[in-house]
Amino acid sequence: MPEGPETHRMADRIHKALIGKEILKFKFQHESVLELNHLEKISIIDVLSIGKAVVIRLGNGLSIISHNQLYGKWTFNRPKTIIRSNRQLRIEFLTKSIAVRLWSATDIKLFLTKDESKHPYIKKIGPDVLEETTSIDCIIQTLKGKAFNRSLSSVLLDQSVISGLGNYLRSEILFFASLIHTQKVSNLSQHQLIELAKHIKEVSVRAYLQKGKTIDLNYFEKEFGNKENFRRVRHMVFSREGLPCFICGNLILKQIVSARRIFLCPCCQSLKE
Ligand SMILES: [Zn+2]
Repeated sequence: MPEGPETHRMADRIHKALIGKEILKFKFQHESVLELNHLEKISIIDVLSIGKAVVIRLGNGLSIISHNQLYGKWTFNRPKTIIRSNRQLRIEFLTKSIAVRLWSATDIKLFLTKDESKHPYIKKIGPDVLEETTSIDCIIQTLKGKAFNRSLSSVLLDQSVISGLGNYLRSEILFFASLIHTQKVSNLSQHQLIELAKHIKEVSVRAYLQKGKTIDLNYFEKEFGNKENFRRVRHMVFSREGLPCFICGNLILKQIVSARRIFLCPCCQSLKE
């Protein structure tokens, strides 16, 4: 499932394609947005992501809120490109230069923009990790609040704590924070809590800026003197089972927790302070 950084980039792409552009044609083929087909004209004033939801704000005071889950997909094509797809078309916007389409998603809802926060998903999620107002301090307070007695493995996937995190980010955040998933928030020292919050923010921002890559290229430059050699590396531990850790050389392990994969370095992620 796409995580916060992927959804954020997707919203950026829709924003770039549609904001300030004249919408020449539009089509809505999902029951919750059918009424928009009656509009004579559509103007889009903003596109953003909140957690893993994409919000399209229209000039008429309505917002289309979609959550792609596992199967929804936005595509971008030239207007004249003929699409052969078995997917169900849900939403289509055409400008002079681009066709933006949403396929297959089933979780699409129409809300008054002023009532976006009442959307069932948006209502229950915690602060969006990529939102500027979600500072390291805000993350610390959130962790100390409703996540206090829980293990890091569940906290880092729970959208109601910090939204936008997901499976690959979880393994990577734990690695950078030198923590293991079985630890509970309540058992962390103040130093560990700060490190965790810092890496929740930094790893997510890096993933957003680096198209899903969580590695810190500056580290490779400093340590190995040539970051170009690591251009194809995406993660420190995620999906690297049996490969050597870039820091200590020990082999990366994979564990399954509640049917989801967690990757870790047994040496770097010890219980050390
Ligand atoms: Zn290591």
